[in-house]
Amino acid sequence: MYSKRFEKEAFKAAVKENVKTLYRKKIEEASKQQIFQAVSYAVKDIIMDDWFETQSKYEEENVKTVYYMSMEFLMGRALGNNLINMTAYTEVKEALDEMGIDLNVIEDEEPDAALGNGGLGRLAACFLDSLATLNYPAYGCGIRYRYGMFKQKIKDGYQVETPDNWLKEGNPFELRREEYAKEVRFGGNIRFEKNPETGRDEFIQENYESVLAIPYDMPIIGYGNHVVNTLRIWDAQAIVDFQLDSFDRGDYHKAVEQENLAKTIVEVLYPNDNHYAGKELRLKQQYFFISASLQELIAKYKRTNSDVRKLYEKVVIQMNDTHPTVAVPELMHLLIDQEGLTWEEAWNVTTKTCAYTNHTIMAEALEKWPIDLFSKLLPRIYQIVQEIDRRFVNEVRAKYPGNEEKVRKMAILWDGQVRMANMAIIAGFSVNGVAKLHTEILKNEQLKDFYEMMPEKFNNKTNGITQRRFLAHGNPLLADWVTDKIGDGWITDLAQISKLKPYAEDEKARKEFMDIKYQNKVRLAKYIKEHNGIDVDPRSIFDVQVKRLHEYKRQLLNILHVMYLYNQIKEHPEMSFYPRTFIFGAKAAAGYQRAKETIKLINSVADVVNNDRSINGKIKVVFIEDYRVSNAELIFAAADVSEQISTASKEASGTGNMKFMLNGAPTLGTMDGANVEIVEEVGIENAFIFGLSSEEVINYENNGGYNPTDIYFNDWELKRVIDQLMDGTYAKGDHEMYKNLYNSLLNTQCTDRADTYFILKDFRSYADAQKRVEEAYRDQDRWSKMAMLNTACSGKFTSDRTIEEYVKDIWKLEKVTVPSGQPE
Ligand SMILES: *Cc1c(COP(=O)(O)O)cnc(C)c1O
Repeated sequence: MYSKRFEKEAFKAAVKENVKTLYRKKIEEASKQQIFQAVSYAVKDIIMDDWFETQSKYEEENVKTVYYMSMEFLMGRALGNNLINMTAYTEVKEALDEMGIDLNVIEDEEPDAALGNGGLGRLAACFLDSLATLNYPAYGCGIRYRYGMFKQKIKDGYQVETPDNWLKEGNPFELRREEYAKEVRFGGNIRFEKNPETGRDEFIQENYESVLAIPYDMPIIGYGNHVVNTLRIWDAQAIVDFQLDSFDRGDYHKAVEQENLAKTIVEVLYPNDNHYAGKELRLKQQYFFISASLQELIAKYKRTNSDVRKLYEKVVIQMNDTHPTVAVPELMHLLIDQEGLTWEEAWNVTTKTCAYTNHTIMAEALEKWPIDLFSKLLPRIYQIVQEIDRRFVNEVRAKYPGNEEKVRKMAILWDGQVRMANMAIIAGFSVNGVAKLHTEILKNEQLKDFYEMMPEKFNNKTNGITQRRFLAHGNPLLADWVTDKIGDGWITDLAQISKLKPYAEDEKARKEFMDIKYQNKVRLAKYIKEHNGIDVDPRSIFDVQVKRLHEYKRQLLNILHVMYLYNQIKEHPEMSFYPRTFIFGAKAAAGYQRAKETIKLINSVADVVNNDRSINGKIKVVFIEDYRVSNAELIFAAADVSEQISTASKEASGTGNMKFMLNGAPTLGTMDGANVEIVEEVGIENAFIFGLSSEEVINYENNGGYNPTDIYFNDWELKRVIDQLMDGTYAKGDHEMYKNLYNSLLNTQCTDRADTYFILKDFRSYADAQKRVEEAYRDQDRWSKMAMLNTACSGKFTSDRTIEEYVKDIWKLEKVTVPSGQPE
């Protein structure tokens, strides 16, 4: 085991040495950031041997490898997580303690690697953790954005975005791999020339722009098994450094252009979650990292295998949503134009190598590139897409003669657009949804025609989360308690957490469980005091909604309900009411007006409610700035109630819901995404379910929506709340501030349907469920049972289970054991 060979004194010496060689300082003189760097380099040094050993073992055994292609990897911080997985956290903590250094303080010096927006990016990060822990050969492939997800500041209640310069101090865990650099070409024109030797038409691209893709590797450490996999993220660099000779040759413009392209292409992550913006630079980013990754993957394959026609025996490519689906025509291009395969041979390889994960049913999230943009930027790739489309449309017509409706729905090229999801489904050998309900909706609604034509491709893989980060690291008190009760097997086998079930009947255990929750609430209260200046009572119910701000996630429903409760308390001060702290955390995409208005509303309600002495602190509202993985870990540990209130059918899975459950917070939610499966596991009596079902929502939608005005005029309490959006109550007298929100609910002005997300329709049902939460919480026996059972029943939702399903049904990988790389 790691612990055996972790040498405390050697580690302390290494930290001191690093401070000296990096900063010419003694440890006492070093800043916290410098100590973070010195500690991280000492940790990286220990990782290196296993990393080396793992990669040699993979090469030696010539193993099949999954390449997880994703525009986003929401990794969070590395140091603490690496130590946990090296099973060296406690020892390093002790070693640093002896040097007068607090590991927790040092961990806070690390910026989050926020190379993702939300759930999709965090899923990719959890998958990498599970793959390494389960001994599977895997690469994560993505982009090394210079600026990750923006930092959110709240000024005067409004979201202000500032750049996330996460690499400012340097990234101690990354490794630049200049030797694997690849050229990626854009634009220009193409022609074909007969090769006199082979007699084949060969493709030639001219007048293109190009950039050099340079990979940076980050170690992904398996838990206690010496496996170290790689997250490979690509940086861009100009191909020819800006040099005088190109200036002399009159290539000045070209040189500057290439310099600019390289700079802009990896500059920043697009901050849209579940929304397609159609920007040219985004398509460049997609092609950039896909082309570089595929070139390298083929080169690597050829180092140990001779026949590229059998690539699929050693390589599987998982496309995380449609963002990486340009991999399909790029793989065809590389196999045909560089490897000399015929179309049929290349198609055979591609369709056995690529698999696609669908993450949403929402129309506004579907990627549809205008053909003129796509074909100009990627002329050869577009030709290949045309040919894939031509052949597929022929197949459709053969199968459904005279049914042009089928072509209209399933073709890749339609109405001047390239429909990326259609391409992924046509070329992929597997199409999966991310929760049972979501997969059923795909099969029966959105992708019905594809499902009828190729049912064998469709499968479900319910998402999961890693318990190593979200319990072992994020909630050490509960983690130790669980280990104390049932042993530490849960860390790599979360099914074992069900052994906690009997303790739900044990009064002493329940008290211990609730004490830990209380201490975690104290920890969060301290964070809130430091960051928001607000005093919150850790004895109040911590009711939490943290996730990206999106209309379908219905933060507006939550805050309207807070306004409703506040009205009630004001009107009936004698009414019994259990004190509640409503905690929000959410970033809004920079251009999403209604989302930003919702943030302002939450902060304004917070201002009014928190400062109203007459309600005796019965309600507090807190908006936690800059919600991200690092503060998420604190938040889940401290939550009493998990708000998962999306409009049924809209949240494909959700993973926040699973993190709350693991940490003992019952779900207050709709029957949507993985909430359905959470209820299946924990029992409906241990959750608070409300609202329309997905069938009901879909039914309304297929019949022109519903009309919220009846509800508005017949429910005076709800009407009053909605009117308060316009009467200045939460806007210092301004009647315009929330007009977009008001209009979205009642549709007096806007182009889309009224209350698209069924907020009025679900309001009463939500308020009732909230009442049930209060009743349940008052009965601490009942509540503590419920909370503990949520933890005890969360076993299904580990990403380890998800990964084993991907491996068995899609990837077909073998486990590889790695001996310790550390010299004895
Ligand atoms: C888990 C997670 C998400 C996803 O949350 P949902 O509630 O599933 O939308 C988003 N952001 C961060 C930082 C997370 O850790």
